[in-house]
Amino acid sequence: MDLNDYEKLLERAYENIPENVKKLSRFEIPKVQIRIESKNTYIINFNRIINTLNRDRRHFLGIFLKKAGTMGEIRGQQLFLKGTYKEQVLNRLIEQYSKAYVLCKICNKPDTEIQREGKKEFLKCTACGAREEIKEK
Ligand SMILES: [Zn+2]
Repeated sequence: MDLNDYEKLLERAYENIPENVKKLSRFEIPKVQIRIESKNTYIINFNRIINTLNRDRRHFLGIFLKKAGTMGEIRGQQLFLKGTYKEQVLNRLIEQYSKAYVLCKICNKPDTEIQREGKKEFLKCTACGAREEIKEK
C-alpha cells in the first residue's frame, strides 16, 4: 500500500467516527451539596445545578418535587425541600431528569431544548437535529 492510499484510509476512518465522539463535550451535573436544618433539606448549590441543566426552573421543580414526593421552593440560590433527603437520592433524581429532559437520546449531548405541542413535549437537539417525544412523566 502506498502512502497516499494509507492517508485516504485514515481519512475515511476518521469520517466514520460519529461527530459526538470527535467533539466529546463532557457534560457533568454538579453533585448536590446539602444542608439539613430543622428536618428540612436545602440544596445549597442548586443554582449551579440548574444552570448546568439549562432548563426552566419551574419545569425542573414540577418534575423533581413530584418524584421526590415532597414540597419545596427556591430560596435565593438554594432549593428548599420539606423533609430530610440523602445526597444520593437527590443526585439520582436529578440524573433521571437530565436523561429524560436534557440529554439527546440519539447523540447524548445536552444541546437541546424542550418544545411543546399541545400536551406533548419534544426534546429537540441542536447538535444532531434529532427530535424525540419525551415520554417519561
Ligand atoms: Zn442529538
